[in-house]
Amino acid sequence: MTVGVVGAGQLGRMLALAGYPLGLDFLFLDRSADAPAAALAPILVGDFTDTALLRRLARRSQVISFDWENVALATGQDRVAEKRLFQRLGVPTTRFAAVNSQAGLERAAERIGLPGVVKTRRLGYDGKGQRVIHDGAELAAAWHALGSVALIYEEFVPFEAEVSALGARARDGSEALYPLTRNWHTQGILRLSVAPWKAPAIERQARAHLRSVLRAFNYVGVLAIEFFVRDGRLIANELAPRVHNSGHWTIEGAITSQFENHLRAISGLPLGSPAAVGHAAMVNLIGRMPARRAVLAQPGTHLHDYGKQARAGRKLGHCTLVAPTARERDRRTRDLLRRLAVPLEGAP
Ligand code: AMP
Repeated sequence: MTVGVVGAGQLGRMLALAGYPLGLDFLFLDRSADAPAAALAPILVGDFTDTALLRRLARRSQVISFDWENVALATGQDRVAEKRLFQRLGVPTTRFAAVNSQAGLERAAERIGLPGVVKTRRLGYDGKGQRVIHDGAELAAAWHALGSVALIYEEFVPFEAEVSALGARARDGSEALYPLTRNWHTQGILRLSVAPWKAPAIERQARAHLRSVLRAFNYVGVLAIEFFVRDGRLIANELAPRVHNSGHWTIEGAITSQFENHLRAISGLPLGSPAAVGHAAMVNLIGRMPARRAVLAQPGTHLHDYGKQARAGRKLGHCTLVAPTARERDRRTRDLLRRLAVPLEGAP
């Protein structure tokens, strides 16, 4: 069976890495011939909106998936549609307003209050296309800086923690939900994930919300929801209708990785157990790759190099460590962050 994947980034690359042992073949479509998945499978090179090329991909594949949410589900492309979906499903989310003009942005800030966060409705990722607003005087500059495009204004949430819920749903409706993951971001980019995060009451809420989103879409594959935790309650920030960076720990830290479960789901195979095999932490390697030796010298640590050109703020790889206890994981995580020279406030 050939799996066609729109987008050949690191997610596509890790899908292929998980799929070859299952006997699957891959074909990618990407704008760039040297995208991270290029080392693993052929790429049709062209634009994501090139219908002739998309048709070729469909003809040569038995099933199609996406590496990039901006070409996937319509709801996942638009932050306002996402928030409306959360509201419809009774999933608490940040207070927000859709904004189409500078005057509209000023009205939104007045209604929702300061501080707030302005984000582009579409095509934002990894903290790109967003700004925190502390003072009304910053609104005009934010409107112009973000390109005078459709925006969303949200209340700024002074969260205690960020967590994500990740799960797979199969064609027959069966589900495999991963243990709760806790996340730390710097400059809007995920830096560290730790799982399982033992917070039973929060995990129960997160699973219920994840289930209702998976069912609302009659979804097939892996989907993630990112939440803020405030006063012990969840506030949904974003959903990603695809495998997710905060689930990379599942490659070594779960019985079945998110990539394998996504492939099992879309190709009509039974899902694998999402249970954790230990206590995992995943650190993103951003902007610069460390020396392999420095990472691998630490026992129980794995390195994933996406084969990308280094650039400031770019995700180039990640490392995962798996420990027998949460305490040991936290100790090793601190050690790894120190070796990588990643100062992370509030990390375990
Ligand atoms: P996003 O692109 O929406 O996933 O935002 C990236 C990161 O920016 C989040 O994971 C948070 O750390 C921070 N952030 C985004 N929106 C808000 C908000 N409304 N309040 C506080 N922090 C936010």
